Amino acid sequence: MLFTHDAQASLRTVAALVNSRLDEDSLTTLADLDAFCAQWEVSGRRDRDGAELAAVRDLRPRLAGLWLAEEEVLVEGVNALLREGDALPQLVRHDGWDWHLHAHRSDAPLAMRLAVEAAMALVDVVRGGERDRLSVCAAEDCEALVVDLSRNRSRKFCEAGCGNRLAAQAYRARRA
Ligand SMILES: [Zn+2]
Ligand SMILES: [Zn+2]
Repeated sequence: MLFTHDAQASLRTVAALVNSRLDEDSLTTLADLDAFCAQWEVSGRRDRDGAELAAVRDLRPRLAGLWLAEEEVLVEGVNALLREGDALPQLVRHDGWDWHLHAHRSDAPLAMRLAVEAAMALVDVVRGGERDRLSVCAAEDCEALVVDLSRNRSRKFCEAGCGNRLAAQAYRARRA
């Protein structure tokens, strides 16, 4: 297995969180945040106020900056997230997920938990020498982050469907 299931889920969550900034920002209301948490199965404390939303939104550029950063910059950023989040690894089991690692307190604010979870997943990426699995969508007009969790390192396009979109364009161009 490339990464543990919780690290894979965390990396996909980070990409989705950062990508919510693109096009029309899809994380602008508390309802958006509720939907995000439901989709990505983010459990634990929720404040459901403007400060919580703002803190999560502020996390996006920070995580985006780490995704393609030089190794030293990435490491520094990850360690900073862990320090600021008072990270303390503990095995937990909840909501149908078997034993996995949480480094955050379950009562920590949402943005802090997301930051620590992201940092823990990036720890696995760095430690495993797998930084080339983090990229940006290969479509020229798309800046979405991509995490390639495929066995043969084949994922080039984001989950918003750029691969299919470009294939359809190429097909139409060939027929024209
Ligand atoms: Zn968990
Ligand atoms: Zn894309």
